[in-house]
Amino acid sequence: MNPACRFCDAALRREVVDLGMSPPSNAFVSPEHAGEPETFYPLRLLACERCGLVQLPNYRRPEETFDHYPYMSSFSTSWLDHVSRYADMMRERLTLTAKSFVVEIASNDGHLLKNFSNAGVPVLGIEPARNIAAAAVAAGIPTRAAYFGATLAGDLAAEGKRADLIVANNVLAHVPGLNDFVAGIGALLEPLGVATLEFPHLAQLIANTEFDTIYHEHLSYFSLSTAQEIFAAHGLRIFDVEELSTHGGSLRIYVAHAASPHADTAAVQRVVTAERAAGLGSDVAYEQFAKRVAAVKRSLLTFLIDAAAHDKRVAGYGAPAKATTLLNYCGVRRDLIEFTCDRNPLKQGKLIPGVHIPIRAPAAIEEYRPDYILIFPWNLAAEIGEQLAPVHAWGARLVVPIPQAAVLA
Ligand SMILES: [Zn+2]
Repeated sequence: MNPACRFCDAALRREVVDLGMSPPSNAFVSPEHAGEPETFYPLRLLACERCGLVQLPNYRRPEETFDHYPYMSSFSTSWLDHVSRYADMMRERLTLTAKSFVVEIASNDGHLLKNFSNAGVPVLGIEPARNIAAAAVAAGIPTRAAYFGATLAGDLAAEGKRADLIVANNVLAHVPGLNDFVAGIGALLEPLGVATLEFPHLAQLIANTEFDTIYHEHLSYFSLSTAQEIFAAHGLRIFDVEELSTHGGSLRIYVAHAASPHADTAAVQRVVTAERAAGLGSDVAYEQFAKRVAAVKRSLLTFLIDAAAHDKRVAGYGAPAKATTLLNYCGVRRDLIEFTCDRNPLKQGKLIPGVHIPIRAPAAIEEYRPDYILIFPWNLAAEIGEQLAPVHAWGARLVVPIPQAAVLA
């Protein structure tokens, strides 16, 4: 039986790409468990022919994924700059004061809300990972350890806590109950309030062959036109949009109640028109995408096999979710990449799921002196390139896997 669309319930029949079987991207393996079996799930991206939503079917209970989530986005400097600029811009645009109320969904350790809180604007974070919510509270950011949805939003509204601004960055794509989540935004939003949501833009994923951003926790992949349809079904309207460079190309949408006076900007129609012009949603666009994905695999394997044949030493940099997808899809193990490293201490000492490439601290690069360093978070290649400047002393070259395996200048 075909799975049903997360938004409109139609049967999902159209395949976008099949990446085979892969373990959950953040199911890092401790070395003492390396001899035990791991669970692999199909990583097959489907498109809804009725509403256009590109998606992976739900595959496991979210509690399992989020109870102790090892990702702390505070570790990326460029992301901290991004959210700080955002907070300044929104305080001005919405004239937020000590009488306003800002709620962030999936607030992580509170690093975004801190920018509002420091300016005297009351905030509330909602964060399902209990360990991370506790860290936010300890840092002075009021945070509820909970999943966001219509029930929680209704409870908050009943307590008189409706939001002038709701922020939800990189969470919409991860929620299994998409309709419940969007309904919750409607219930929590003040009549004149604004919600902004950021998510990777499907048009960029397709255009740049960013197939490694497909992983099990990343359930939905949105075009602007499909997002419009989803929010409209819950009495909400996307009145503005910005195209961002984060995560390989994201959208930031501005959402208000359908009847609110926030006027639609020209940007909304411009992005929708560009999506249509690119053939987004057409069979041919998806067929060409799947072919380019296979070509990336061949180019990466060719590079790695050639390096090994010439006794070159290859290490990785970073252990993001992307690395799990890329390495499992390409079948790259320790014979081709000795280890990778990550600044997040929670990941150090663990193994990449499935392929068991070890994750070390960045200092391991200096010790090992690889000839090539493959940068898994290619979206942060500029920032990482600066951090890795010392490796040029022994002639190491940096390599990115996407949109083609390429040695950087
Ligand atoms: Zn649908």
